[in-house]
Amino acid sequence: MHTQTLIVGGGLSGLSLAYRLQQAGHDYQLVEARSRLGGRIKSLDVAGTKFDLGPSWVWPGQTRVAQLVDDLDLHLFEQWGSGDQLYEQSSGDVQRNAGFMSMAGSLRVSGGTSALTDALAGRLDPTRVQTNRIAKTVQDGPAVAFSDGETATADRIVLCLPPRLTAQLSFAPALPKGAMSALQDIPTWMGAHAKFVAVYPTPFWRARSLSGDASSRRGPMVEIHDASPRDGAFGALFGFMGIPADIRMRAGDALQTAAVDQLANLFGPEASTPLATMLEDWSQDPLTATPADAAPPQGHPPYQMPDTLQNMWGGKLLFATTEMAPDNGGLIEGALAAAETAAAQILTP
Ligand SMILES: Cc1cc2nc3c(=O)[nH]c(=O)nc-3n(C[C@H](O)[C@H](O)[C@H](O)COP(=O)(O)OP(=O)(O)OC[C@H]3O[C@@H](n4cnc5c(N)ncnc54)[C@H](O)[C@@H]3O)c2cc1C
Repeated sequence: MHTQTLIVGGGLSGLSLAYRLQQAGHDYQLVEARSRLGGRIKSLDVAGTKFDLGPSWVWPGQTRVAQLVDDLDLHLFEQWGSGDQLYEQSSGDVQRNAGFMSMAGSLRVSGGTSALTDALAGRLDPTRVQTNRIAKTVQDGPAVAFSDGETATADRIVLCLPPRLTAQLSFAPALPKGAMSALQDIPTWMGAHAKFVAVYPTPFWRARSLSGDASSRRGPMVEIHDASPRDGAFGALFGFMGIPADIRMRAGDALQTAAVDQLANLFGPEASTPLATMLEDWSQDPLTATPADAAPPQGHPPYQMPDTLQNMWGGKLLFATTEMAPDNGGLIEGALAAAETAAAQILTP
């Protein structure tokens, strides 16, 4: 296979870049290691309704998200935030209207965040997208060799992977030491985290004037929010686990049981019988995070494209992922910004 631009990675950055190139009539191929597209954007499907296991929110003022949502005929709606918040003490006692974890004012994509990546993927020419293609070696041909022994050549390659995963690839010739250490030093945003989702027939807590927001010193979840769909088809709550990644790995299924018990302690006995639950531990996903990501960074890193990665192989090797975005690094808007920058580099004569 030969193409003008070979995009490696079918998360939002790669999909958005492919969409931009396709709109410009440019020749490309996109290869993705998993059997599904979307990367960190993933959802639990309950009877056709999607519940976010990766990102939930976008924010007002994120112009690329707003434009894409418009282009794809999707809709945004406000995160549910009406009602009292709960605070769970380490003893298990629950206080109303304590804690400060509301995400009111944030926006969600109707149909779940994966509606974005599904719609984008749906607009791409299917003959230009290949799943189950694990890139292993990147050569200055340029070419990419895959785990199945096949090779693809291109005029240029764009790596749309979290930087630490890019650093795990083999490069021939090897990248300069400074470039490799720059890649290894960039934490994968949210790569340390695990998200638990519980789905119910209705958002029953709202009838008790609870917002669904809770913070906890008891755990296993430290921060909980309403994750119900816009159309009221179901109710849902989600929470971020507060237990370190290595302990989570050893805990297994007990963690999900503990999470449901915690929801029942906070929101009452109705919470003890969810229709469906799912725990997505991103730290244990080798196509998102590396062992270096097990501990989260302190705060939001000042993501940007390192100077050492500019103009690699005379511009034949590019990098485009949210962690290297010119703004909003780490976020959905950042993934779109990274794709925008790469597309401009490729399409500008
Ligand atoms: C739990 C969680 C909560 C989040 N919450 C928010 C939020 O509320 N708001 C927000 O804006 N952002 C949030 N984010 C961040 C958001 O998900 C990311 O910014 C965005 O999805 C990154 O897209 P990407 O394409 O740059 O990377 P990725 O989605 O990581 O895509 C990389 C792709 O490359 C593929 N790949 C990896 N290795 C190879 C290989 N060797 N060969 C081929 N393909 C490969 C992967 O399978 C993947 O599909 C959250 C993330 C997580 C995990």
